[in-house]
Parts: sequence; C-alpha cells; structure tokens
Amino acid sequence: MSEITNRVKEVLSSVPQNKYGEKVTLVAAVKFRTVEEIQEAIDAGIEAIGDNHVQEFKEKFDSIRGASRQFIGHLQTNKVKYLIGKTDLIQSLDRMELVEELDKRSVRAGVVTNVLVQVNIGCEESKGGFEYGEALERAREIHARAGLNVKGFMAMLPISDDEGYLSSLVEKMRSLYDAYREENGSAEYLSMGMSGDWKLCVEHGSNMIRIGTALFGARPVAKKDG
Ligand SMILES: *Cc1c(COP(=O)(O)O)cnc(C)c1O
Repeated sequence: MSEITNRVKEVLSSVPQNKYGEKVTLVAAVKFRTVEEIQEAIDAGIEAIGDNHVQEFKEKFDSIRGASRQFIGHLQTNKVKYLIGKTDLIQSLDRMELVEELDKRSVRAGVVTNVLVQVNIGCEESKGGFEYGEALERAREIHARAGLNVKGFMAMLPISDDEGYLSSLVEKMRSLYDAYREENGSAEYLSMGMSGDWKLCVEHGSNMIRIGTALFGARPVAKKDG
C-alpha cells in the first residue's frame, strides 16, 4: 500500500463519532494534488473532496469519480459561473456579494446550490466570513433565496496554544449550528477542523473536518492562487 492509502485508512479509523453521536464526515482538502493522488484517497475510503482553487476544480473534478465534490476556499465572484451545477457543497459562503452572485446564477441555471455559511469565529482580519453575532440571521436570509440551500456553518480556528479558548470557540459554533438546525431540519454540517486541530474540534461538536497534509503529506510549493 502506498503512503496516501495508509494515511487515509489511519485517519479514517481514528475519526470518532462526536459527542452527539453524529457521524463525522472527513473531507479531503486536495489543493495542489494530482488526479491520481486524489483518486487513490477516494479508493482508500474518502467520501468527499474539497478544493480551494476554481482552476484546479475545473481541470480535475470532472475526471474524478466516487466522492462528493466540494469547494472550500475563497471564491471570487467572477469565477462562480464555473462551479454552478458542479459542486455538492460550497463551504465558503463568506460575504453577501458572493451570496448575490451564487443565487442569481443558480436560479438562472435551474439548480439549488448547497452552501455552508462561513463564520469568522476568531474575529481575524486575515480571514473571511460573517461575524458570529449576525450569522444566524444571515443563514435565514440566505436560505430564503430560491437558488441556495444552507446546510450549516463552516469556520476556521485561529492559531493559539490556548485549548480552553479554542474549545470555547467550537462550542460557540455548535450552539449557533444547533439554534439554526431547530429552524431548518435540512441543516447537517458544522465544518470545523483541519490537520492540526480536528481532534479538538470533533470533541467539542464539529461533525465535518477538512484535512489535507495529514492525508497527503506536506503540500507542494504553492502555485499562484486562482
Ligand atoms: C488547506 C485547507 C484545509 C486543510 O488544511 P491542512 O492543514 O492541510 O489539513 C482545510 N480547510 C481549508 C479551507 C483549506 O484551505
């Protein structure tokens, strides 16, 4: 077995249910990986893949079989058209301008696009997303659009050694998710957790994690964003 197969099996076998008894969905973060590497991860048991770059998504995802196709990165409005009807979930709905464009194009194409509302839980300037305090209202507003279906929330933790602080942020997100789910039974996902922090996130209520390096090894040198 190759390295990727080994790592996928190892991570899959160590992902527990969360404390709510929910299945935790592992999304492989596949930026800069080849079609062969991605296909190997799927063959080893990965059920969902997520990319950050529209160009890569366009080039690779059509030839990949057997997994849910998701978009997890910052999405420029002028690239939205390439994703309509091609993704199972867009996790990074981070601003109203993007909401407008995704909704308009989805309606025009006669599809409903599944999305997660991204929340800037650490209030970091470097990160996108809605403020925590407005997120519930935004989720309602977005879900009311004809072209969009809100399936839950996504957030990234800030860098910190303070586990108590990080745990409290996950729990805040979980209560937001629970509040929203009471109104909208089709909400399914709280997406929090990457290679370095997924265990803490699952322990405190996340049910979807996005993992790259722990599955594929260190990333190749970044190409220009796109
Ligand atoms: C790359 C990426 C991940 C995975 O990061 P790793 O640290 O490699 O596990 C998760 N979420 C997003 C949005 C990413 O861009």
